[in-house]
Amino acid sequence: MALSTSSRLSKVVKQIYMELTQGSKVQAMYVWVDGTGEGLRCKTRTLDFEPKSVAELPEWNFDGSSTYQSEGSNSDMYLIPSAMFRDPFRKDPNKLVLCEVLKYNRKPAGTNLRYSCSRIMKMVADQVPWFGMEQEYTLLGTDGHPFGWPSNGFPGPQGPYYCGVGADKAYGRDIAEAHYRACLYAGIKLSGINAEVMPAQWEFQVGPCEGIEMGDHLWIARFILHRICEDFGVIVSFDPKPITGNWNGAGCHANFSTKAMREENGLKYIEDAIEKLGKRHQYHIRAYDPKKGLDNARRLTGKHETSNINEFSAGVANRGASIRIPRSVGQEKKGYFEDRRPSANCDPYGVTEALVRTCLLNETGDEPADYKN
Ligand code: ADP
Ligand code: MN
Ligand code: MN
Ligand code: MN
Repeated sequence: MALSTSSRLSKVVKQIYMELTQGSKVQAMYVWVDGTGEGLRCKTRTLDFEPKSVAELPEWNFDGSSTYQSEGSNSDMYLIPSAMFRDPFRKDPNKLVLCEVLKYNRKPAGTNLRYSCSRIMKMVADQVPWFGMEQEYTLLGTDGHPFGWPSNGFPGPQGPYYCGVGADKAYGRDIAEAHYRACLYAGIKLSGINAEVMPAQWEFQVGPCEGIEMGDHLWIARFILHRICEDFGVIVSFDPKPITGNWNGAGCHANFSTKAMREENGLKYIEDAIEKLGKRHQYHIRAYDPKKGLDNARRLTGKHETSNINEFSAGVANRGASIRIPRSVGQEKKGYFEDRRPSANCDPYGVTEALVRTCLLNETGDEPADYKN
């Protein structure tokens, strides 16, 4: 099992220093999405006060030429604090600060999808859109081989691992458990976890979150997972199909509802939304992974509980469809629906924005509409 070198440093020795008092200072770790649209970066500054809300946090900057983000010679990028969480690593009163990235001209950077998403969410705030996303991920050793898999070969075929328990079924539970507790400490709306179909694959669920909060909570939950895996010396992959062949891929199902869908006979509004989604499949496929469908093409094969990337389908309790209406929602005739297409490495801002544009703003066609304020 290939574990990283730094994970072998003594965490007990480190703890001696982490117990030192920090006076009246607060450490704020600023976190942002880099130019790949998938990678996260972070750096820390000392504050001489404890911020009570994100509005109290200062803007900052970084060198975009080192994060695949700058354009030409203007390498300074702005970090705009957008959401604040408790820091489960350094603990109170320290903070994790999710930031938007702006270019030198204060326009959003190419992979800052939060900027547009928050505008769209404000336009539909009266419909109270809720989202819940199911983040699947795969644990890998530093050699890129799935965690706990035999170094030459494969574990037994899929079947016993989903929601499994026992040393021969659950690979790396320590990480999923540590992550769950760290997210609750941070203030993330983590609603659950489970072991997945492929050994070394896990899922956590975030939500329900309202509007822009979905992307904020999911991105920080991903950051916390990367950071915990760093401590354990393993790597977390959000690749949608880390192992080819008869092994499940990794998605990020997006569950969605509005106030009307959650109320009596809301099923009618759910069916309306699904009909609109059926007419805009390609637009959604492009919005659902960072490579505009190429990543998901490896995963959405029509096998392994996925739909075919080229076809739109919907059904009650159907896990082989693009859209699934949970059985309980079909029975109660109200609730939410699940879009199973987003890839594990999707940007939740892009996914939730696309859902709102199509289902609530009635957009059609291949391009997002341009709304003048
Ligand atoms: P699955 O059966 O697809 O594995 P999960 O239990 O893993 O479902 O995830 C369900 C997700 O749906 C959770 O993230 C939860 O927060 C979300 N959810 C529940 N109710 C709603 C709702 N009314 N609107 C939007 N999301 C919801
Ligand atoms: Mn799930
Ligand atoms: Mn799952
Ligand atoms: Mn699901």
